[in-house]
Amino acid sequence: MIRILCIFLLYISFINLYSFEESELNRSLRDWEQTNHNQAIVLITSPSSGIIEYAYTKENAFSKKLPAGSILKTLSSFVFLANPEKFHTSWEKNFICNGKFEEPYSNFFTLEDTNNYNLFKNEKSDTFYYNCSLAKGHGEITMSQALALSCNSYYLHFASHSPSFFHNSLLQDWKLDEGTGASFESFSKQKFTRPKKISHFTSSLMSIGNAGIIKVTALKIAQIYGAIFANTQILKPIQKGEMPEVVNPFPYSQNTREKIQEALRLVTIKGTLKNLSLQNTSIQVLGGKTGTPTKDGNKTLTHGWNILYFKKGDNLYLLVVFTENGSGKREALELSSIILNLL
Ligand SMILES: [Zn+2]
Repeated sequence: MIRILCIFLLYISFINLYSFEESELNRSLRDWEQTNHNQAIVLITSPSSGIIEYAYTKENAFSKKLPAGSILKTLSSFVFLANPEKFHTSWEKNFICNGKFEEPYSNFFTLEDTNNYNLFKNEKSDTFYYNCSLAKGHGEITMSQALALSCNSYYLHFASHSPSFFHNSLLQDWKLDEGTGASFESFSKQKFTRPKKISHFTSSLMSIGNAGIIKVTALKIAQIYGAIFANTQILKPIQKGEMPEVVNPFPYSQNTREKIQEALRLVTIKGTLKNLSLQNTSIQVLGGKTGTPTKDGNKTLTHGWNILYFKKGDNLYLLVVFTENGSGKREALELSSIILNLL
């Protein structure tokens, strides 16, 4: 009874939300797409209730499966923190990134890996390596800096300690193969097309979302990041008029979640979202994450993701932006700035 009352009160408190000027946002997004010869997907939600406040376009935001890239690093951090003995890491542990992920032991990279992925050869030692997002390396970092600065080497290094366990945990804990439970979602139940035999490197690459296997909708990402930021269970995305509903418990401890929230705040202060150009003084950005997937199945393309958790007035919102071309730090960031300045 108390639970029903709480949900009802929560529902009442969300009825009078600020309403975004949909037509103006639609027009600005269409203009941006035409000027930049690009395509955008945008979603704004109220994460504490799961309400969809704005979607562009609804069809793409709710149904189009997109390569995930570094937005998975946040989810990977949870997997690491929940299983420190498997990955030999912790929140405080230092790691030195020299700009390369070198194979942790000989023959770690298979012949297929060298054909499938963008591996480089170290001519002197006759070994292969995968580039970090920063060629000169991130130097000595901890997990929160690895997340804020989006260090590939950090995630590949620790995931490679237990690659199969890592990729199974990532998919199962976050239910990445499943839909969101939304009544308006048309979700294909078809699981990811996975190679019959997944190499240790492919499993490790899932930690940075660049194995070309995991694809997610913007709706799914909004659902997961909404729960991370707003301290809720995993909520069903709903349209105005629908009642808030829990679809799954949040899969990790509150202590772990608070650590990740701290790192996601750093992303907007000194990480990959620090160059957000915000003139709208009614908005306060509280955290976020960027992503630049470079592999989609067998195709090599780059796309841009931005996730931003922000406050306007007394209300908290989540913005998810995906650009078909470009990167998280440029095109998606430019578009996020345009959207936030219009709200
Ligand atoms: Zn790095």
